[in-house]
This record gives sequence, structure tokens and C-alpha cells, in this order.
Amino acid sequence: MAGKLKGFDVAVEINEQRCRSCGICYEVCPEDVLEPSTPLRKALIKNLDSCTGCRLCEWLCTDWAINVVATPLAQAAVGS
Ligand code: SF4
Ligand code: SF4
Repeated sequence: MAGKLKGFDVAVEINEQRCRSCGICYEVCPEDVLEPSTPLRKALIKNLDSCTGCRLCEWLCTDWAINVVATPLAQAAVGS
């Protein structure tokens, strides 16, 4: 299980091609899940286990580079 959203498995998908290194997502994430890469400062996942699935990063990314997917744990178990 990934993330802190009860009953869900959370995935944060980052499209590296779309990311233009603006920094919004890793500055706003309240759980410090994301960090900048070196040296390009594109968004990377640092600590997915802390993600609450709030989707703030997805909503504020102006380049549609982030997709937060929350899968119910029962469904994730069936798929695995
Ligand atoms: S908000 Fe979007 S464009 Fe900006 S660093 Fe994050 S993923 Fe990249
Ligand atoms: S969904 Fe929320 S907690 Fe998870 S990485 Fe995005 S801003 Fe951070």
C-alpha cells in the first residue's frame, strides 16, 4: 500500500516531458512528498508513503504533468 489515504492505494504519476520545472508542486505539497531533480529541477517523488491523495499538486500544475490516482484497496488487491 502506498500513501496515507485510508482504504486507498495512492499513486502520483509525473510526466517528465510535460514538467517545466516551475517548482509549484514540490513547494505546495503539504506532506513533502515531492522534490526537485538535479540539475533540471523537475518533479520527483521522494516519499510516496506520506501522500494523502489531496491532489493539490495535480490541480496547481499548469502543465498537466501530474496525475494522482487513488485506487480502492479492495480493487488494488484484485488487480495484483
Ligand atoms: S507543478 Fe508541474 S510543471 Fe511545475 S514542477 Fe511540478 S510537475 Fe513540473
Ligand atoms: S496529492 Fe497532495 S500529498 Fe500527494 S503529492 Fe500531491 S500535494 Fe502532496
